[in-house]
Amino acid sequence: MNVPFFNYQHIFTANQDKFIEIIKDIGSRGAFILQKDLEEFEKNLAKYIGVDYAIGVANGTDAIWLALLAAGIGKEDEVIFASHTYIATANAIKFVGAIPVPADCRSDHMIDPESVESLITNKTKAIVPTQLNGRCCEMDSLLEIAKKHDLIIIEDAAQGLGAEYKGSGIGTFDKGATISFYPAKNLGSFGDGGAFVTNDKKMYNKVKVLRDHGRNEEGIFVDWGFNSRLDNLQAAILNFKLSYYDDEVKRRREIAGIYQKELDHLKEIHLPPGPDSDQNYFDVFQNYEIEAERRDLLKKYLSENGIGTIIQWNGQPVHSIVALGFKGSGLPYTEEMYKKCLMLPMNTSLSNQEVKYVCNKIKNFYE
Ligand SMILES: *Cc1c(COP(=O)(O)O)cnc(C)c1O
Repeated sequence: MNVPFFNYQHIFTANQDKFIEIIKDIGSRGAFILQKDLEEFEKNLAKYIGVDYAIGVANGTDAIWLALLAAGIGKEDEVIFASHTYIATANAIKFVGAIPVPADCRSDHMIDPESVESLITNKTKAIVPTQLNGRCCEMDSLLEIAKKHDLIIIEDAAQGLGAEYKGSGIGTFDKGATISFYPAKNLGSFGDGGAFVTNDKKMYNKVKVLRDHGRNEEGIFVDWGFNSRLDNLQAAILNFKLSYYDDEVKRRREIAGIYQKELDHLKEIHLPPGPDSDQNYFDVFQNYEIEAERRDLLKKYLSENGIGTIIQWNGQPVHSIVALGFKGSGLPYTEEMYKKCLMLPMNTSLSNQEVKYVCNKIKNFYE
């Protein structure tokens, strides 16, 4: 059996006829930039999440960057983020002129609030926690810390569409959240795409002007700006995919349940929290990231058996990248975890039989 880590064709072939119909419709209307399809998608996305506003932008990295700019984060401000994230989080902080300060994570691989608090200085202005692998961070503690030290929170929810903490979705906690529609993300487009979602009207207005050359809705230039628009065609495709997103999440949670049931007894591996393990969290399982003893040998064994796995971020937490000026050490959980972390196949193209095959091979390896 062959179980690739991700099947890029599947996101198209899964609903090919409908996608071709959408492309024909957009093409025949010549509706490519800032058209009604984008507006509809933005409305539906906001409604789905339960926020007042959503703005489509060019990609998830731009979304973080524009949100930080809109919040007035800039020169010499320090911004704390999780070292266990994509470099994009740090890049966005860097390119508003601020200083990215990486924090440690804990056993569910989310940012550790204690580590965050220990890194606060009189220059700290914001926290950008990553809602990683389809799970929310422990937002209560982060909000308490933010309040105590007068910081803002912008969530990097590139991997978190639909994730909830204590009944509230991403984007509702403080200044808003950023989402990525990179093809392999839970809601993937056929190229790059992203969004900023928020309940904060000021943030909404600013990001909206920033993404379209500093123009307001009447086309009047009211500020400096960029071109970071979500293509209307991508928006139309995403709007359709959003209509069955709940089913996709349900399927991901089912797969997580199978992994949980089949692998939980193995002492050599540490699983992410199960889909129904804690009422405070609703996880959407963008990824299924385990910690495994003899990780590299396991990875090789699975590969020899036709199973694709990935070590997230190519095995490099952000603080380990000394070429960018980071110290390279000092975050103990993250450093230990990176010797063991491994992502198993987690996507909606998988059959139960394939998931069980992966589980059986892992059991064979340790037995
Ligand atoms: C994918 C991702 C991004 C970047 O999104 P793009 O759309 O590729 O720019 C940022 N942060 C995290 C955590 C991601 O997983």
